[in-house]
Amino acid sequence: MSADALIRLQEMMSKAHRVVVFTGAGISTESGIPDFRSPGGLWTKYAPIDFQEFVASEDMRMEAWRRKFAMDSTLGTAEPNKGHVAIAKMVDEGLVTHVITQNIDGLHQASGVPASKVIELHGNATYATCLTCGQRHELADVKVEFESSGKSPRCVSCDGIVKSATISFGQSMPEEQMMLAQHATQECDLMLAIGSSLQVYPAAGFPIMAKQNGSGLIILNREETELDHIADLVLHLEIGETLAPLVRLN
Ligand code: NAD
Repeated sequence: MSADALIRLQEMMSKAHRVVVFTGAGISTESGIPDFRSPGGLWTKYAPIDFQEFVASEDMRMEAWRRKFAMDSTLGTAEPNKGHVAIAKMVDEGLVTHVITQNIDGLHQASGVPASKVIELHGNATYATCLTCGQRHELADVKVEFESSGKSPRCVSCDGIVKSATISFGQSMPEEQMMLAQHATQECDLMLAIGSSLQVYPAAGFPIMAKQNGSGLIILNREETELDHIADLVLHLEIGETLAPLVRLN
């Protein structure tokens, strides 16, 4: 990657007034959380369980909860990395208005971005909800029930199916978060898409919407993405070491 590209990154960032950062699983790999599509990523180990399968099959629900509790040992101990901290600093300095994230790990908030500025498109893995009545269930309680009963957890109030508060493939997107993301995208003059293969829709529609709305688009991702061809600048680089100098962290 040429030094010219990094200079161009700095120039575009310094000319922008309202930047929206859009992140995917790649921002969290430096915190030890595997992404989906990199070699060794989660996708290569487990095919995702989609929403219809989860609802229809007790076996699939059991498998989903087994995976979830195995993954929680990594998620629960992960700390924000240089990339998260650099973005938090850009938010603090007023350059970045919102962080739209596909991630469910809560590391943007943990790095200091106010929760009101983090738009979680795919939910949050730190609690569960009942699919029938919407009641929140704490994971510690769900885990005790799962392990003691040998069955997938049900709601104590209505006996509905309990599911992690993340959005699975095939599940409806959260309406409020989608509206907030749309609004932030329409207001920005630069979108910085970081650590996403940009293959998952409707999330990947936001960088497209930003471009269609006249905003600039920068993509920072180790590998090629589906949207490199529409970006104003593409950086196939590591995230932490690219973002840190922008905010004088190095
Ligand atoms: P993805 O796995 O499809 O793409 C991640 C991209 O990040 C890859 O193209 C990879 O090359 C790049 N990458 C990884 N580490 C990098 C680094 N250090 N520097 C530069 N690039 C790096 O992820 P996606 O597009 O976010 O889609 C996956 C879906 O899975 C999302 O919807 C998300 O909800 C979910 N997911 C979330 C987490 C999390 O919360 N941390 C982890 C895995 C999956």
